[in-house]
Amino acid sequence: METVKEYFGCNVFDDREMKANLPAKVYQSLKKTIDEGAVLDVSVANIVAEAMKEWALKKGATHYTHWFQPLTGITAEKHDSFISPSPDGGVIMEFSGKELIKGEPDASSFPTGGIRATFEARGYTTWDPTSYAFIKGKTLCIPTAFCAYGGQALDKKTPLLRSMEALNTQALRILRLFGNDTAKRVTSSVGPEQEYFLVPKEMYDKRLDLRMSGRTLFGAKAPKGQEMDDHYFGIIKPRVQAYMEELNEELWKLGILAKTEHNEVAPSQHELAPIYTTTNVGTDHNQLTMEIMQKIALKHGLVCLLHEKPFAGVNGSGKHNNWSIATDEGQNLLSPGATPYENAQFLLFLCAVIKAVDDYQDLLRLSVATAGNDHRLGANEAPPAVVSMFLGDELQAVLDAIETDTPYSGAEKTKMQLGVDVLPLFNRDTTDRNRTSPFAFTGNKFEFRMLGSSNSIACANIMLNSAVAESLKIYADRLEGVDDFETALHEMIKKTIKDHKRIMFNGNGYDDAWIAEAEKRGLSNYKTTADCMPHLLDEKNVKMLTSHKVFTLEELQSRTEIMLENYCKSVTIEANTMVQMAKTQIIPAIEKYAMDVATGANTKKQLNSSIACNYESSLVSKLSEYSDKAYVQTAELEKVVADLAEAKDIIEESAMIRDNVLPKMEELRSSCDAAEELTAKSYWPFPTYSDLLFGV
Ligand code: ADP
Ligand code: MG
Repeated sequence: METVKEYFGCNVFDDREMKANLPAKVYQSLKKTIDEGAVLDVSVANIVAEAMKEWALKKGATHYTHWFQPLTGITAEKHDSFISPSPDGGVIMEFSGKELIKGEPDASSFPTGGIRATFEARGYTTWDPTSYAFIKGKTLCIPTAFCAYGGQALDKKTPLLRSMEALNTQALRILRLFGNDTAKRVTSSVGPEQEYFLVPKEMYDKRLDLRMSGRTLFGAKAPKGQEMDDHYFGIIKPRVQAYMEELNEELWKLGILAKTEHNEVAPSQHELAPIYTTTNVGTDHNQLTMEIMQKIALKHGLVCLLHEKPFAGVNGSGKHNNWSIATDEGQNLLSPGATPYENAQFLLFLCAVIKAVDDYQDLLRLSVATAGNDHRLGANEAPPAVVSMFLGDELQAVLDAIETDTPYSGAEKTKMQLGVDVLPLFNRDTTDRNRTSPFAFTGNKFEFRMLGSSNSIACANIMLNSAVAESLKIYADRLEGVDDFETALHEMIKKTIKDHKRIMFNGNGYDDAWIAEAEKRGLSNYKTTADCMPHLLDEKNVKMLTSHKVFTLEELQSRTEIMLENYCKSVTIEANTMVQMAKTQIIPAIEKYAMDVATGANTKKQLNSSIACNYESSLVSKLSEYSDKAYVQTAELEKVVADLAEAKDIIEESAMIRDNVLPKMEELRSSCDAAEELTAKSYWPFPTYSDLLFGV
């Protein structure tokens, strides 16, 4: 048996393979492209392609694919084999630099939000050398960006790379002001903690709602939920353990640094966290992780649910996006330093994040918006839909002291002059990590906690990178060329703290009182996707995102359209599924049971007319009441879904989904769930919450 050390990354054409398989000059040139974003030479690409192919063939690969992330939220691939006919009737295995660099998938059926008319169906993919190629099955996968023929981004990677570039440009300007002339590149990094549920496959198969929408649309509460807190960090069951072991092995082979795994709060809920890497590679790895999680689960007779809210009344699944920025020299710019200069620099970067989160709350909220995630945000289990920041008491006290020019009480009672004095020592708040805060500082990184478990992390990181780049740009514009740098810096930090105080909140984010307070502070509270998504096109947001060249206006318009379309489609599928389940499974089951109970009562009465049959009579009345209700509510739900056809545009349709369809779904569900509680289990047409949550 090979050890982890031996097989780690064995399916990746990583730095070790490049070094071993490329001529030194070619390797240097490729490395320069990877590390510094230098343009890649075609002659270099040819040699890389050849080496990559030879390596892949040795690993048993027969095909290659440009692997990309269209706006569907999942990854796409179209496989081409390496074979090419040879004159003697056989084949040779070919792969050119051109094929490595550029691909032309038939892209007409990916969402474009109107960017590309179908007659112009050609989109193209371009190699992203900063994310390593890897082998999946018998296919060499080449991470690529996906654009329309006119250059407009049709994927999540392109804007992510652009946002990293914007952040790099602005952060380097700031570093130079602090006398750092050696750093060549600043990169944002991410470590996403992924939550998921595992349910038995044979039960999953019997539930149309899970199969169609990834979540249960009906289901009475199980007698036991998560109230005992006995699952969280509890002993992992053998079947789950076996799953996790195989999952880790597969991820490690792909060079994914899966690090921790544990049980989560809800029964049958678990979490996996990798070691952080760049936001680009982290995003690719998270997409792959989600795919492999689902694949391996099937091998163990399980289904991995990545939906944000698979079960009502039980915690949903999120994804914590741990985010930071660092130089190529290994300096974490969100880590407090040891010298006065380092500290002033840390405070400036910290302020840049504070300003970014406050100025672009709406972008952060909408970057995590999906129909699924709307069920979590604000439901006392995930951070609210209001964005706020938690810094920890001590760092907050430091900022307060700077703002008010008062001595920081934690240190000797001296007034601080930034850039001159050492920052007062404060303990990094890693213990009390206010879990209710949507955006928490955890010592040397921020943890953005609003993401849903199925979200691509690309969107959140695009917005974070861009918004912070914007703060840094404003700072650099102001600070470059000032005579008295220290005073200007001090003033700027003070001003940021003063101007953006409202976004900082160290209390309980799940408390209703906070929502009221947040409203007073003027913070936005967009409860649903329909509410927040249109703000992507607000003037300030368009201005910021286009000025840093992260998106064009056209791309933003198309994205708004696609995200709202996704929202409407997901909910419509759920509504249609409910209608079908109610009509063909639930109502007939209630009726059958009611009839059998009634027939039983009649039989009893025939035997002995003095038997009152109170139980049967009361039960049959209740069951009939629920089935009648469910029948009417099903028709009402069908009607509001049919009405969607009248919407004049996607914004109106999404509002109709929010205002009409979702409430009707709730109503239908409540009648059916109430009936389930009265119906004998043997009559119920599909597995219950107890079966699903405690079946593994
Ligand atoms: P916790 O105390 O929450 O367990 P960890 O240090 O284990 O904190 O981090 C949780 C996640 O944050 C992991 O995925 C980890 O790799 C990631 N992380 C740690 N440092 C950074 C950083 N500088 N930038 C981005 N992510 C980071
Ligand atoms: Mg966490």
